[in-house]
Amino acid sequence: MTERLAPDAAGIARAAALLGAGELVAFGTETVYGLGGDACNPRAVAAIFAAKGRPRFNPLICHYPDAETAFAHVAAPEAARRLAAAFWPGPLTLVLPRREDCPVALLTGAGLATLAVRVPAPPITQALLRAVARPIAAPSANRSGRVSPTTAAHVLHDLDGRIAAVLDSGPCPVGVESTVLDLSGDAPLLLRPGGTTREAIEALVGPMRAGPTAGERAAPRSPGMLGSHYAPARPVRLRADSVATDEALLAFGPPLTGAGATFQLSAGADPVEAAANLFAGLHALDGECARRGLARIAVMPIPETGLGLAINDRLRRAAAPRPSARKPTFLA
Ligand code: AMP
Ligand code: MG
Repeated sequence: MTERLAPDAAGIARAAALLGAGELVAFGTETVYGLGGDACNPRAVAAIFAAKGRPRFNPLICHYPDAETAFAHVAAPEAARRLAAAFWPGPLTLVLPRREDCPVALLTGAGLATLAVRVPAPPITQALLRAVARPIAAPSANRSGRVSPTTAAHVLHDLDGRIAAVLDSGPCPVGVESTVLDLSGDAPLLLRPGGTTREAIEALVGPMRAGPTAGERAAPRSPGMLGSHYAPARPVRLRADSVATDEALLAFGPPLTGAGATFQLSAGADPVEAAANLFAGLHALDGECARRGLARIAVMPIPETGLGLAINDRLRRAAAPRPSARKPTFLA
């Protein structure tokens, strides 16, 4: 049973305690209800994807109580600081490069070198974020493919029994999602229109591009070509039933023997644990390949059920053929 918490001091304290313990709590913001988990805890973030039933890992927005705590985790250029001063707290999400010491789990950003950060406005949301004292990763609190929820009743309709609690702060005042603006490149890029208008943003930071260019859209959906898809530097071989000494092994369950290096996703073959470790494992094996001169990463089979769907989706992108001339974008 999912607890329904009142928007008072006791409810906020209970929600904060559950989040701090790695549990999932839905909470209202000015846009829609978010399905929250501790962004620094990869198990909690994996549980968010499991609860939503999402067949792939999209990067999640990290929620902070103020710009100062957000900018401690991402590098903010002048334009970001100006936008934050004007629109935070409010329905604007900024995509910025992670700082080197950023404690947010790699799974939160789907392995990307950037992180989406936002400061929501409602006093109850603010009180919750201050009480938890860590960033909260939160996509919309609906099952995958359903509409975004703007009341606690909507949340329970989709997620009752799948999350620990919902903090009921009443209907969301804005009701549309936050504007997502990517400030990690040369020019501001509008990734998603939302609660903060384009005109208001452009008045502060000048003209921005909207969405990917025609050339970027036409590009094959291979991981090396798209900055939004993490890909290891080495080739990836899927469904390995044996492994060679010049290969690094991404293991799931009892590991194959003979690899040049091994990273265990989940010794007990638990897909939620494997999801929590996936991006850290790919980065670690990429490093091992470079250090030991290994040729590729071999991946043991992972069942196509539950979070296994999202794990396999990401691994298939990593294994897709890619042009060797372009360097993939990923965290070093
Ligand atoms: P939702 O989870 O429904 O609130 O949607 C979050 C939106 O932010 C999606 O469109 C994501 O693709 C986008 N997003 C989050 N993080 C990043 C990132 N690091 N780079 C680009 N887009 C992002
Ligand atoms: Mg959504």
